[in-house]
Amino acid sequence: MKSRIEHTEEEWRKLLSPQAFAVLREKGTEPPFSGKYNDFKKRGTFVCAGCGNELFSSDTKYNSGSGWPSFWQPVSPDAIDTQEDLSHNASRTEVLCARCGGHLGHVFDDGPPPTGKRYCMNSLALDFKQD
Ligand code: FE
Repeated sequence: MKSRIEHTEEEWRKLLSPQAFAVLREKGTEPPFSGKYNDFKKRGTFVCAGCGNELFSSDTKYNSGSGWPSFWQPVSPDAIDTQEDLSHNASRTEVLCARCGGHLGHVFDDGPPPTGKRYCMNSLALDFKQD
């Protein structure tokens, strides 16, 4: 089991940029096509910008055309948590970092084979470790 990482809101504000805080801790969404990892093709591993938890391999990244970095599978099922999100008059599935609880984005059922999933992530919630 991974150890959970917990910080107070005040601690998170010191640890994160205001932009990353707004996404990770306040469930914000960066504007489409604004993020540094949307059009990004280096090989490596995307990790949580809040805690460094490994989340997605570049091997599962694809161009969804949505304007947000998109993946069809996390590195492992226990890297993330999901929960129902009924905000904005929609029913969506929110994706959170399993280690720090940070908001990462949402997952949809219109992704490519083999999973059919589209993990629609915010660049601001991610860091990148090159292979
Ligand atoms: Fe995290």
